Amino acid sequence: MLDWSFVVNECLKYGINIVGTSAERAISSSWSKGEWANYHYHSEVGHVINLNPHINRIEVARVISETQGIKVAPDEVYYWLWFHEIGHATQKHFRNWKNAQMDYHFKKKGTSEDVARLYRKGEKAADRYANKRFLEWKAEGKMCRFAAAKKQPAA
Ligand SMILES: [Zn+2]
Repeated sequence: MLDWSFVVNECLKYGINIVGTSAERAISSSWSKGEWANYHYHSEVGHVINLNPHINRIEVARVISETQGIKVAPDEVYYWLWFHEIGHATQKHFRNWKNAQMDYHFKKKGTSEDVARLYRKGEKAADRYANKRFLEWKAEGKMCRFAAAKKQPAA
């Protein structure tokens, strides 16, 4: 999935408190189809990133490559997803969207379209951030050790 030292460095750099493989709503709930990863902020535990361990990496790599216009290999999928979720954790869009949701549901302020618009804006921003970080990471010659190991000729 992800290199452990990569994850630890990123967590320290971006203040991520918990990394896991749980679906968003509850520890026991299962991932819904098409849900690849999630980010949320808990007032008590802080920033949380979860990666869905059940995705089809070949299929997800194809979708990301097509929609983002960059080449993401199946072994690199979790890195791109990680950068996308870090994009949510480090940008104001996620907070704006959550605030709009709260206003809409609890204070009857705004519209569901406002919430949806902010959601799309946040997703686009996280995608842009992910593409930028992913390409920087690739330029540094980083790749999943699993992929690197496979390319080694047998000794
Ligand atoms: Zn997102």
